[in-house]
Amino acid sequence: MKIKLGNLVLDRWVDGDGDGNTLTSAVDGSTVAAITSDGLDFKDILNHARTVGGSNLRKYTFHERGEMLKALAKYLNEHKKEFYPLSTQTGATRSDSWVDIDGGISTMFVFSSKGRREMPNDKVYLDGPPEQLSKNGTFAAQHIFTPKLGAAVHINAFNFPCWGMLEKLAPTLLAGVPAIVKPASSTAYLTELMVRRIIESGILPDGALQLICGSVGDLFDHLTCQDTIAFTGSKNTAEFLQQHPKVISESVAFTAETDSLNSSILGPDAVPGTPEFDLYIKEVVHEMTSKAGQKCTAIRRIIAPSAITAEVIDALSTALGKIRVGHPGNKDVDMGALASQGQRDEVRDRVAELSQQADLVFGGSDDFDVVGADAKKGAFFMPTLLHCEKPLTSTAVHSVEAFGPVSTVLPYDNLDEAIELSCMGEGSLVSSIFTNDNAIARELVLGTAAYHGRMLVINRHCAAESTGHGSPLPHLVHGGPGRAGGGEEMGGVRGVLHYMQRTAIQGSPQTLAAIGNRWVRGADENDPGVHPFRKTFEQLAIGDTLITKSREVTLDDIEHFAEFTGDNFYAHMDEEAAAKNPFFDGRVAHGYLIVSFAAGLFVDPDFGPVLANYGLDDLRFAQPVNHGDVLKVRLTCKQKTLRPDKGYGEVRWDTEVTNQDDDIVAQYDVLTMVATDEHWASVSA
Ligand code: NAP
Repeated sequence: MKIKLGNLVLDRWVDGDGDGNTLTSAVDGSTVAAITSDGLDFKDILNHARTVGGSNLRKYTFHERGEMLKALAKYLNEHKKEFYPLSTQTGATRSDSWVDIDGGISTMFVFSSKGRREMPNDKVYLDGPPEQLSKNGTFAAQHIFTPKLGAAVHINAFNFPCWGMLEKLAPTLLAGVPAIVKPASSTAYLTELMVRRIIESGILPDGALQLICGSVGDLFDHLTCQDTIAFTGSKNTAEFLQQHPKVISESVAFTAETDSLNSSILGPDAVPGTPEFDLYIKEVVHEMTSKAGQKCTAIRRIIAPSAITAEVIDALSTALGKIRVGHPGNKDVDMGALASQGQRDEVRDRVAELSQQADLVFGGSDDFDVVGADAKKGAFFMPTLLHCEKPLTSTAVHSVEAFGPVSTVLPYDNLDEAIELSCMGEGSLVSSIFTNDNAIARELVLGTAAYHGRMLVINRHCAAESTGHGSPLPHLVHGGPGRAGGGEEMGGVRGVLHYMQRTAIQGSPQTLAAIGNRWVRGADENDPGVHPFRKTFEQLAIGDTLITKSREVTLDDIEHFAEFTGDNFYAHMDEEAAAKNPFFDGRVAHGYLIVSFAAGLFVDPDFGPVLANYGLDDLRFAQPVNHGDVLKVRLTCKQKTLRPDKGYGEVRWDTEVTNQDDDIVAQYDVLTMVATDEHWASVSA
């Protein structure tokens, strides 16, 4: 009996109408499940996301949502064993599944951590510093990001049913936006299982996540300008969806990650016998065969020096000849099956197309050993290598994507040709370069980067720790121009901001400080009543300001500081030499002396709630300090970030050091950790 996949709609699991389409195992063609979303009300689904999911998520701060992601990642980690057997049915070997399942979970962990470290414990994200717009400082502006008040519709490809969902879900939830996930049908059974576990965890608020298994029906007809589409799949589908009248009329944000003809260049220095040559062969074979070549980032174009093309083909063929294809659950197997028989037929057709302009030099045959499975029932395909002798005048090798273990060797005569070939893919997700010559690396990167979303340069020094050509990382942008879809996902906080709206807010400094919870120059400076270092995290208010006493800088101070620290730079120690410097009239105080004197002026020495100074940000010395100058400091509580359950919060202090003429000589943020009421009460009792 076919088991219909559930649709998660309005926080309930519902079956679609009818029998649905049958989903079969990539390994033996047996029925795995049936899929249908017929009968669902897609308008209701969108409304539920917007009204219930969005308003629930927006109650939390970025840090609270980051904690939510962490809890979810932990929960999935505990249940991950369950996902592996189903993943095998998609044709994935254990290591392919690891990338999909464990890779997806670790992406959530990274977003959780980035959200808590790099975003404020607040509901608004400030984009850069304030802009001063007026002479007297009473009118300024601040760019902010707030969550869009719509839904994020995620349409995913079949090749990574877990990672593909989680890499989009993590930044979306962190942004405070609900998601509607539509996995590719052929492997949706694995996504559905993972969503069941996510919902069972009870970690997400109502409406934060919905799942559509099957067609999205008329959902696009109900989109508004507050919704976001994040699409992964083929260029054709992306183009079709981007032309939907609602997407156009409502200017719906549309991020597309589509197919790409990724290239990898073997540098002219990386001849046989060098470590880079061996690393190249290993990486190309890995990229061709991991996930049976069904990776949007896989190397499709092998750009190698023409003088050693024969050696490259030879080495690749030898290595590919050792790849054991077969049942992905079998430990002896290196490469599993394609996602379906249909995909296999598709790849076969694309190889035939490529063969019009390139010679088959390895594979391409239906007659090969399949370990532990029936070659006729499973979607197995032999690793296949082609060689195109005249790649500059061929078109197919730069435009036809065989989404399987297929790649083509393209020879080049000089670096200009290598650059031209790499760019002929018309935009790709990733490109790599194997060279131990950094001048070559620079020339190739500057010549081609505009066509690629990510570039990896490998040499003997970084190879062992490299994450590889084909691995998108949550810290780095994933996406690419042109054929790759023109979109960008992940990239840490950048990926979160795709689901938010940037707005320029203009107003008085005090208003901007109130909106952004960050003190702005020109806003009120409050007298805290006591030294602000006597206040706990909770007691401190943004705007609390200390104006210190003054201190003169003497020549003795400068000489003492030079001797004590060993910093005898001429500008501090040699009057004549210092005067020749265009910036100084004579000897000047060390910048670090100014910062040290400032600390001496503003600290409160007694045991108190300020636990530590953990750094300075944006330090600038605005003008020289000569001996005889008199310094004083303004220290203002600028921003507070509570670290829940840690007993402290981070407090950023806007710091300005001025001289006897009230000219600013130094400006910076002092970063401190300040005890919470509870912690302070426990240690000061
Ligand atoms: P696809 O046919 O374009 O399908 C992608 C997704 O779009 C699937 O969820 C599919 O659902 C859905 N879809 C198709 N027609 C739709 C429509 N009219 N309305 C709404 N949704 C629609 O691509 P695929 O064959 O699954 O994936 C392979 C391609 O994806 C390759 O070209 C590969 O390079 C690319 N890819 C790119 C990336 C990347 O990050 N750039 C990652 C993986 C794959 P159904 O399955 O239900 O049709």
